[in-house]
Amino acid sequence: MRIVLLGAPGSGKGTQAQKLVAGQGIPQVSTGDLLRAELKSESALGLRAKTDMDAGRLVADGLVLQIIERRLEKDDVRNGFILDGFPRNRTQAEDLARLLAEIEKPLDAVLLLDIDMEILSKRLTGRRTCSVTGKVLNIHFSPQQDLDACIAAGGELLYRDDDNEETIANRLGVYQEQTRPLIEFYRSAGLLRVVDAMGTVEEVAQRMQEALDS
Ligand code: AMP
Repeated sequence: MRIVLLGAPGSGKGTQAQKLVAGQGIPQVSTGDLLRAELKSESALGLRAKTDMDAGRLVADGLVLQIIERRLEKDDVRNGFILDGFPRNRTQAEDLARLLAEIEKPLDAVLLLDIDMEILSKRLTGRRTCSVTGKVLNIHFSPQQDLDACIAAGGELLYRDDDNEETIANRLGVYQEQTRPLIEFYRSAGLLRVVDAMGTVEEVAQRMQEALDS
């Protein structure tokens, strides 16, 4: 299946994408992860993307399209993929449709993770990654034993560079202005399936599965 996950930053897209990877046996393609890898390797593309990423703004469409094109040429996406964090505006959605039409592999579904905007802020400001296990945790919502397990393993709970308050506000603003209109775009295309993203990871994962089966 070829799936797009749509949702505000903090709606649980990354976590649910990982669940879908396990359930569907197809890879997650996250433009955020791909861009962070470019940054880490200090590639020309990564360096060009850095200022916008640090500020929580969208990276130029041309750069994102370049990395997505490269990624969708790989063998492991032949049977499908879960797009997480792409498209994020109308231009990217049209680019994606064109790209997939060229290879005659259109999208099967767009899953919208629907969530209360107030909860989002807590999810984003509380998000940490364990430096040892790589597990994504939240100081407000994760069970204390999971947080303790990271420390017991000798790890630290690290912020992502773009998880500070100003950047978070920018990212939510960008979502409202540029990404939210994609809900209507995909609804009119008959691809949209709305999933209630409130509740535990397992509950939301179950709803995602039901939305895909329906
Ligand atoms: P994410 O991990 O998806 O929250 O992405 C982190 C940052 O990478 C975003 O705040 C943007 O600066 C950049 N980014 C990721 N995906 C895109 C995209 N599709 N278009 C433009 N910028 C993106």
